[in-house]
Amino acid sequence: MFLQGCLSVQTYDAVIIGAGHNGLVCAAYLLKAGYSVLLLEKRPIPGGGCTTEELMPEEAPGFRFNPCAIDHVFIHLGPVVQELQLEKYGLEYLYCDPVVFCPHPDGRYFLGRRSVEETCAEIARFSPRDALKYAEFVDFWQRAIGVFIPLFNAPPKSLIDIAGNFDAAKLADLGSILGPPDKILDFAQTMLTSPREMIEEWFDCEVLKAPLARLAGELSTPPSQKNMAFGAMMMVTRHNPGLARPRGGTGALTQALLNLVQSLGGVVLCDQNVERVLVDDSRAVGVRVTGGTEYRAKHAVISNIDAKRLFLHLLDPQDVDNANPALRERVERKISGNNEAILKIDCALSEPPRFVHHNHQDEYLMGSVLIADSVNHVEIAHNDPNVGKIPDANPSMYLAVPTMRDPSMAPEGKHTLWIEFFAPYQIAGAEGTGLLGTGWTDELKNQVADRVIDKLAQYAPNVKDAIIARKVESPAELSERIGVLRGNYYHIDMTFDRMMFFRPLPELANYKTPIAGLYLTGAGTHPGGSISGMPGRNCARVFLHEQQPVLQTLKDAGKSLGSTVKSVLNL
Ligand SMILES: Cc1cc2nc3c(=O)[nH]c(=O)nc-3n(C[C@H](O)[C@H](O)[C@H](O)COP(=O)(O)OP(=O)(O)OC[C@H]3O[C@@H](n4cnc5c(N)ncnc54)[C@H](O)[C@@H]3O)c2cc1C
Repeated sequence: MFLQGCLSVQTYDAVIIGAGHNGLVCAAYLLKAGYSVLLLEKRPIPGGGCTTEELMPEEAPGFRFNPCAIDHVFIHLGPVVQELQLEKYGLEYLYCDPVVFCPHPDGRYFLGRRSVEETCAEIARFSPRDALKYAEFVDFWQRAIGVFIPLFNAPPKSLIDIAGNFDAAKLADLGSILGPPDKILDFAQTMLTSPREMIEEWFDCEVLKAPLARLAGELSTPPSQKNMAFGAMMMVTRHNPGLARPRGGTGALTQALLNLVQSLGGVVLCDQNVERVLVDDSRAVGVRVTGGTEYRAKHAVISNIDAKRLFLHLLDPQDVDNANPALRERVERKISGNNEAILKIDCALSEPPRFVHHNHQDEYLMGSVLIADSVNHVEIAHNDPNVGKIPDANPSMYLAVPTMRDPSMAPEGKHTLWIEFFAPYQIAGAEGTGLLGTGWTDELKNQVADRVIDKLAQYAPNVKDAIIARKVESPAELSERIGVLRGNYYHIDMTFDRMMFFRPLPELANYKTPIAGLYLTGAGTHPGGSISGMPGRNCARVFLHEQQPVLQTLKDAGKSLGSTVKSVLNL
């Protein structure tokens, strides 16, 4: 396939499909290394799942909402913010404390604070034994996280890169996790269990177990899912590195990245839906957008969208088959997806919700609020969507009142409410009806939202009267808005079998593809979804290694040596 109209075609070193935060991070590293970069974004604004928008300008002017991500944790387990000096480009993180509030139906509640000690004191109010165990639980997971961090921040198949990330503290964590064979086997067995089993092993009290299970389920699997024990660490990350939100909303991260990219000469074009990756002589050489405009890439076409969309929708089947005759079928049939997505509710409020049955304090609303009455309640919240049922008879939810921590997001004295409710993408029995054939209609999404708000009102009775306006987005609408398949905002499931060198498939796991010059980044690559920037940074490193193998290997080896020397000298 050849590029049309040679004279008018714009050429860049790299063309990136999609300006999600990972595409922007990747672009920033390439630009800093001296490459020219073009990002093409299908929406009118960049950011993908990392935007802040005035969703209801007529009914609620001046209220700014995060339609997708709100809580930034994983980005603080990597060096992106510091390396790219994003504070210089306008980013400021506000840390939340308390980090989690979960009211129990019997009037007790879990209040997780940033400090582990203070959290234990809160737990001791309802279970002195669980309070003691909680400190041990956090210590175990903090050491495990210390071991995971070097793996997250390197391409999964790059040993030098991974080794370079182990400094003295992380080597100590590794030593403390591993040990004699039985200890290693015990750690491996723990990782193969489910969050539920792990939580049940450590704790007695439902008031603590339910919120831990709900946070584990943020990886979009039920608490009973085997091999997902690492989900149990989700609460632990809220102590360290902590739960942070950019001042001005989640989109302030995208804006800072955009400021940096543009200051380095990068070009971001919106309303540009890439519909074809152009391949010439087995090499990706550019893209074509809806309307026919083509852009040429000298060294790389980088996809911020997942392997399924890239290989099945954007490439000519013949070009894929020429590179690897088995790939299309493997991508189509081996990368399966669960049916769980999110129904999102954003409200403009005249006053914050008040948890009057739980000795309401405004500080409860600083971080995340979980409605999770029991571990079984959370189990149903995930299992029902998987079989196409809407778990709205007794909704479990995750909510936040972002304006409590950052009043700049609403007119003075007013508030916003962010509610995430797990719901099926495809509703069973409604195939072929509604939006995208999923069964979702405006009437249905509003009925479900009413039930979610009814449940919340059992805990915060003032919430209904406080709503000035609301916007409800069904899983099918989410898919249309940011282009993700089947509402999967992590692009690909976050289960253990899809992590590291399995993400998205072993042959695609190091950000490279069988088509020369075509790279993958984004949530569908290692280490996965959420706001982390890690897939973007790792992909850039792989590209730079290919372009400058000697220079990059020397740099990585130098870093590796530096870490070892620091460890030995205990610096
Ligand atoms: C409701 C909700 C709540 C969430 N909450 C959190 C949270 O609190 N914390 C957290 O860490 N994560 C959260 N997430 C997940 C997080 O938002 C995503 O995992 C993350 O944004 C993925 O980033 P990305 O850059 O890899 O991909 P994306 O954000 O999906 O970016 C891909 C970009 O590509 C564009 N695109 C798609 N197709 C094309 C095309 N053909 N041509 C051009 N452009 C295209 C899209 O419009 C998009 O801008 C949430 C997600 C949702 C939906």
